[in-house]
Amino acid sequence: MSKTLIRGAKVLGGEPQDVLIDGGTIAEVGTGLSAEGAEVVEAGGKVLLPGLVDLHTHLREPGREDSETVLTGTRAAASGGYTAVFAMANTFPVADTAGVVEQVYRLGQEHGYCDVQPIGAVTVGLEGRKLAELGAMHESAAGVTVFSDDGKCVDDAVIMRRALEYVKAFGGVVAQHAQEPRLTEGAQMNEGVVSAELGLGGWPAVAEESIIARDVLLAEHVGSRVHICHLSTAGSVEIVRWAKSRGIDVTAEVTPHHLLLTDELVRTYNPVYKVNPPLRTERDVLALREALADGTIDIVATDHAPHPHEDKDCEWAAAAMGMVGLETALSVVQETMVDTGLLTWAGVAERMSVKPAEIGQAKGHGRPVSAGEPANLTLVDTAYRGSVDPAGFASRSRNTPYEGRELPGRVTHTWLRGKATLVDGKLT
Ligand SMILES: [Zn+2]
Repeated sequence: MSKTLIRGAKVLGGEPQDVLIDGGTIAEVGTGLSAEGAEVVEAGGKVLLPGLVDLHTHLREPGREDSETVLTGTRAAASGGYTAVFAMANTFPVADTAGVVEQVYRLGQEHGYCDVQPIGAVTVGLEGRKLAELGAMHESAAGVTVFSDDGKCVDDAVIMRRALEYVKAFGGVVAQHAQEPRLTEGAQMNEGVVSAELGLGGWPAVAEESIIARDVLLAEHVGSRVHICHLSTAGSVEIVRWAKSRGIDVTAEVTPHHLLLTDELVRTYNPVYKVNPPLRTERDVLALREALADGTIDIVATDHAPHPHEDKDCEWAAAAMGMVGLETALSVVQETMVDTGLLTWAGVAERMSVKPAEIGQAKGHGRPVSAGEPANLTLVDTAYRGSVDPAGFASRSRNTPYEGRELPGRVTHTWLRGKATLVDGKLT
């Protein structure tokens, strides 16, 4: 059994403590712990968090291994401080059967960089017409509890109702990509001042908000649980706030990029800023930060969406939508939420580890940093500042909106059940 002593880390940003890992478990947390027989990691000044959990990752395997694989995606995850990711179902073939979700789950286990919990499709082929085999996916070795047609909206109200009813039986959750399809036909960016000036097809806030309003009401009606993916507008925040005040069982996520970037960037016509849902306005960004701080938005999820060079480096209209995010998420959250005084590190741990693990039922993740718990941990040098260099990414794709941008914080170590997956910023 190997032992590691993490010496002098600020656990959840608090007072410096030593954390002793023995095998796959945290053996002891305290001060002045003996280093006998242990490898020592000097962590003075750094912040120790429970391993991050991403409820919204696109790993692209099977089918689009040119943009990402389970191996490269989980290496990117470990590099960003994650110990568990939920893999979205919009692969080729779609993860709508027990066979596909088991394949993705097993690949994650084999590679050993990060636990991979597959998300099952809500409808067969993401076509929105017929419910997929939700029960079979839940009962498979992958034990699916989160279902989503992400990339597409479950826009048929009857199908959405049936899905909510179905997952209720085993305590699952439907994660909705809220986008009314008719209202966003031909949409290229946020509908507003900038889209009008540029003459690009607009994506109105109401296309997102109307679906969220409908779905929280459906969740209330059937007494089930709904999760809203990537909230992007101030109006969406208001609806979720209202729903929660009414006691509706709803949770919501925001992406790092929606906490930082606005639609003003589209003026560059650089497709790296093309994303779904689109970048919104400064007012929306501020409302999202405030909602994440006050708990209206429960979690940060990356919506890590890798695309190969040829799908992004083309004219705006033809470019694929999405950004990579696993390797920069924590830095963007530090920049927008911690360095602004909106969240403490304990608050970050809650929103990037504890709650996502809870929503997705990721066993052994999002646990307290205390004796007897699985040693899923991440160590962050929060004093670091540096510019983002995508050439150093572990992801197979490079479509980051932060290239050359200076961001704070750097994950130096990640441990998955006591095994170091990242040491001094290098993957093992
Ligand atoms: Zn989505």
